[in-house]
Amino acid sequence: MSGMTEIVYPLARSIGRGLSHRCPACGEGQMFGRYLKVQPHCARCDHELALYPADDGPAYLTILLIGHLIIAPLLIFPIIWESDPRISLPIILSALTVITLLLLPRIKGGWVGLMYSLQVSTRDEKLHAANVAD
Ligand SMILES: [Zn+2]
Repeated sequence: MSGMTEIVYPLARSIGRGLSHRCPACGEGQMFGRYLKVQPHCARCDHELALYPADDGPAYLTILLIGHLIIAPLLIFPIIWESDPRISLPIILSALTVITLLLLPRIKGGWVGLMYSLQVSTRDEKLHAANVAD
């Protein structure tokens, strides 16, 4: 076995660090400067966090998760669709908004951890569909 087989960027550890808003490289530095704003560099290890694409993926994933894990199970309960939508909708929508806002930074952190683990970077030209189309 050579050094080539070594796992340099363990998937679960990288995602786990991201989910807890930590730098996926060292697990120490804070990933976010403020809400959803990924630091350009880790304050601890200087790893370039801005390197990883995190534009649409996290938001899409969050909507997907909320749709499957929250909205779909909610529809099982008759009270949800039997109640007056003028009352139930604002309650459900504001609850979903709160859940989304709480979930989004976690998922974005986990996403950056995933990108780190897979070594996908914004410098990878193949990622940009616009360039491929040219
Ligand atoms: Zn770091």
